[in-house]
Amino acid sequence: MMTPEEIVFMSEELIGVYESLEDDLIRNVAKRFSVLDEITPDTVAAWQAEKLQQLGALNKENLKTIKRYSRKTSREISRILHDAGYQAIELDERIYKEAYSEGLLAAMPVPAAASPVLQQIIRGAIDNTRSYFNLINTTALQSAQNSFLGIVNKAYLETSLGVTDYNTAVRNAVRELADMGITGVDYISAAGRHTRNQVDVAVRRAVVTSTAQTAGKMQIQRAKEWGCNLVEVSSHMGARPSHAVWQGRIYSIEGSTAEYPNLITVTGYGTVTGLCGVNCHHSFYPFFEGISEQRYKPYDLKENARVYEQSQQQRALERSVRAEKRRILAADSAGDTAGKHAAQLRLKEKEARLKQFIRDTGRTQRTARQQVMDFGHSQASQAVWTARKAASFQSLSGMTTSNGIVVSGASNHFGQRAIQRGISLADVRDALTNPLGIGNIRIADNIRSQEFTGGIARVQINPDTGNLITVWKTSAKLRNKLKGGR
Ligand SMILES: [Zn+2]
Repeated sequence: MMTPEEIVFMSEELIGVYESLEDDLIRNVAKRFSVLDEITPDTVAAWQAEKLQQLGALNKENLKTIKRYSRKTSREISRILHDAGYQAIELDERIYKEAYSEGLLAAMPVPAAASPVLQQIIRGAIDNTRSYFNLINTTALQSAQNSFLGIVNKAYLETSLGVTDYNTAVRNAVRELADMGITGVDYISAAGRHTRNQVDVAVRRAVVTSTAQTAGKMQIQRAKEWGCNLVEVSSHMGARPSHAVWQGRIYSIEGSTAEYPNLITVTGYGTVTGLCGVNCHHSFYPFFEGISEQRYKPYDLKENARVYEQSQQQRALERSVRAEKRRILAADSAGDTAGKHAAQLRLKEKEARLKQFIRDTGRTQRTARQQVMDFGHSQASQAVWTARKAASFQSLSGMTTSNGIVVSGASNHFGQRAIQRGISLADVRDALTNPLGIGNIRIADNIRSQEFTGGIARVQINPDTGNLITVWKTSAKLRNKLKGGR
């Protein structure tokens, strides 16, 4: 099983691989043209015939390029989906087990690893994503061929009709190739809009969306298996406006109440435009009244819209930088030195503009890694889980220690130390009610403290206020010594 960091790393690598694939395909096409050739309106027909004969060789070369890149990807996609899905489940599982031990859930289902429905969801997701990647590959091959034919036909027409000279025609056509990029897949939005997507964009969306969708499907299935009906949806500043209206709230998976409206009706969960749909950064977690503390909150819609607008401007600037890079490599392949230099100057200017925008807005520059990290679903939930777990130590307040101190509360610091040191709520309770030893009261900086040593945890409490101060693991040596002395 991969760690959350490894999942991010692998997704990033996969997206990087497809960016290079697109570059290679553009190069394969562009290098078959030379702006230095001397072609006149009289010889351009022969030139066209010669170029058309190269089509077979181009396709063969492109197929080889695609194969080289996609050999590894199928296996990696399976791993990413599998591990991301089970990791989301595993984090929820700890919340379920706590709810179960608190008597909020009636029964424990079969372990997640043994659930046949979860296995089906993973298998289905892997199959879907693999065929989607096959479609991306096929479309890319076709798109490269169409681009090549487009350049041949345009240069032929413009040169033979005398619209422009051959060299200018090829130069412009190659630049258009760079601007269009290689199409990965045609995408039809929910509004029925038909969009051409470049290979790298299509791949990023495929990885990000299928990971989020698979995790979501598995989480909902597991919620049903446990008999949990409430989920908390995450929130972040700068969410797309149509998602900002429902983020950071608690929903019912089935049915609805005045307090907890229905998840599917409100968030559009399961649709391309809704929660866990295309490019959605949101996730959700099981929620239990009584033990769960709401972690996320809705954001002010106006402020959110402003930040969202900035993020869109940043994307546009990032895209313009990548576009100049493609122009450089296409011009270079076609022997267009002047075009290459012009693009290099524009690249510098656009990179500077992006940098300035980042400085002005105080936003952060995103590397490929950060773009993937935005979707670090499992990492986000890891943080949420830790915060929840730390807060759960609050529930110790009100209990009485073996020598009669009433516990008044536990700071967040106390909870975090306990988690870091692998100490559970039950271990702390055991140390306080059933200690192997109780230390003398010590005074430091006018604060009195007393230490309770249990079999697993050593807990420090302020005997005057009842506040839990900190906690350590009981060493085997100390445990044996106290047990022997009993
Ligand atoms: Zn979203």
